Amino acid sequence: MTGPARLVLATHNAHKLGELRAILVPALPGLDPDSVVGARDVGAPEPVEDGVTFAENALIKARALAAHTGLPAVADDSGLSVDVLGGAPGIFSARWSGRHGDDRANLDLLLAQLSDIAPEHRGARFTCAAALVTPDGEEHVELGHLAGTLATAPRGEHGFGYDPILVPAGGDLTCAELAPEEKNRISHRGQAFRALVPAVVAVLGREPRG
Ligand code: IMP
Repeated sequence: MTGPARLVLATHNAHKLGELRAILVPALPGLDPDSVVGARDVGAPEPVEDGVTFAENALIKARALAAHTGLPAVADDSGLSVDVLGGAPGIFSARWSGRHGDDRANLDLLLAQLSDIAPEHRGARFTCAAALVTPDGEEHVELGHLAGTLATAPRGEHGFGYDPILVPAGGDLTCAELAPEEKNRISHRGQAFRALVPAVVAVLGREPRG
């Protein structure tokens, strides 16, 4: 039996929605997977992300969605921070080339900018801030990181965004060459959302609507 929606995830990105469901649903035994819905399913508008940190932007999205739906809302904000660029693209990762969400253009521009940078100076890391906001204003934020180095050309077919150029520390494969489960196991998003699970469990435990 499918119950009503109980938790809403703020992403409009199908890849990220899949990653988040894969992380959250097994961690919440007894939760009907169909009761975890995406922002698009509930017709939620996308708020202006005018925060200057990943955590601020995650909270902006979760607050807007909790207010729109009356449900506990989970949002993330994430991006790639490159050492030699002083942490850029950072919060501008999704629109680095000027076109929001054009993953290939963003990646190509970044590679061109770093074309003269030697391997030992190509350090970078993904960061994810995961936020939970309830309709009555309870807020939680957790951070996760995935550090590595940037390849000089894209490799691999999985994932999205900058996955084809980030080689996690300790390995030789890019995130796009890793199996999706392996990426979830080590990823910034996996870490942040697993850290958020106890708060989600506590909130859903207090709001038995299903
Ligand atoms: P957001 O949707 O505002 O969080 O922006 C995230 C952007 O950061 C994406 O468009 C990607 O460019 C980049 N990004 C974040 N997480 C990842 C990841 O796991 N793999 C590859 N790129 C990522």
